[in-house]
Amino acid sequence: MNHLLKDTILCLEKAAEIIGLDKKKMRTLEKPKRILKASLKIKTDKGMIKSFPAYRVQFNNKLGPFKGGIRFHPLVDLNEMEALALMMTLKNALIDIPFGGAKGGVRVDPLKLSKKELEALSRAYVAAFYKHLGPQKDIPAPDINTNPQIMAWMIDEYSRLLGKIELASFTGKPKELGGSEIREQATAQGGVYVLESFLKKIKFKRKNLEAAIQGFGNVGANTAKILYDQGYKIIALSDIKGGIVIKSKKRKGDIGLNPHKVEECVKEKGTLAGCYCRGSVCEVPNDHQKISNQKLLELETDILIPAAIENQITVKNAKRIKAKIILEMANGPTAFKADKILNQRGILVIPDLLANAGGVAVSYFEWLSNIKNEVWDKAESINCLKAMMESGLDKVYELSRQYKTDLRTAGYALALQRLYVRSHKKFSSTI
Ligand code: GLU
Repeated sequence: MNHLLKDTILCLEKAAEIIGLDKKKMRTLEKPKRILKASLKIKTDKGMIKSFPAYRVQFNNKLGPFKGGIRFHPLVDLNEMEALALMMTLKNALIDIPFGGAKGGVRVDPLKLSKKELEALSRAYVAAFYKHLGPQKDIPAPDINTNPQIMAWMIDEYSRLLGKIELASFTGKPKELGGSEIREQATAQGGVYVLESFLKKIKFKRKNLEAAIQGFGNVGANTAKILYDQGYKIIALSDIKGGIVIKSKKRKGDIGLNPHKVEECVKEKGTLAGCYCRGSVCEVPNDHQKISNQKLLELETDILIPAAIENQITVKNAKRIKAKIILEMANGPTAFKADKILNQRGILVIPDLLANAGGVAVSYFEWLSNIKNEVWDKAESINCLKAMMESGLDKVYELSRQYKTDLRTAGYALALQRLYVRSHKKFSSTI
């Protein structure tokens, strides 16, 4: 069994024990309902036929249609998809939206594809699985290396195959296709709402907080920009090729890295590690130097934000983590055993199921507005997102105090309560 799936089930079992849920009841949560597999064939620009393994795991639909992203990544495999689909089931339950959980992916390095090939691959994915997708069946969305453009190709292919347009069959679409105005920033914004709310609850000193962020995709880059705009000092950023860190944190007047400038530089140079420069486009009022992804995790900082891929904090480096708070914007960045070490060391972890739920929360608003044929304005979506994330944190925090446990276990407990209260009406719950 893949470590991520094993770790997710270990967390589930820990939470089930705390709330007194019979382990046998949980068996239904340990196996996916349906696994879809295909080998997607596309014609390359050079006229060759290439195939790519593709998956959609529909894990659980007790609370509503299956829901979850599709990622394009070289490390995609079925086990990973199963784990992430289970996590989506729990995330959607925790944040209290009427969806089950699913996840899809294609094993591919999308950076090696041309735009035309990427479009062909996106369409091939839908052609393989469209019979199992739809607004009341399974609603995909973006995930790692997928974006509104890819959703647009996918919904176009879906509509072509079905012979009618069903906007609510995909979320994370461009605005012109019924997408939410705030979907691109939603995951990051949701995480920041949770973080700020948590800092208030624990009365953490709030001035000039420092943050180090691993990952500069949609989630990492937007989280960095929002935090920077709110006055946080960004001390390090990284992407798949490596990162940059400010040289001297103590320098007077040092405001840290400016992720807006860094983003411009990335666009120009292609990678973040290439933005190791002085006084050029990524100009910041201080020098910065290169840092590896691993070393970034071990920096002394108030807040560490893993926003890339799973299994970054492991038993190997957990003892060296120096952050006070970890905000898990990636799915599954901390291994189960590493989590125990972090807890013992008093490092506070805001778990992925809650921290990154803002993306799917706004997907829900998008789906709802498409179904009802409404247009939600920006302010309305932002207010709903804020309320949902803060309420999620309140409940998780409350449960963590009630059961004297960490936030992750409390988050899993809340998800379990929602899944079983609604299905079996067994618990007198706090919700
Ligand atoms: N891929 C995102 C996640 O892992 C969003 C999924 C969605 O919006 O359905 O939460």
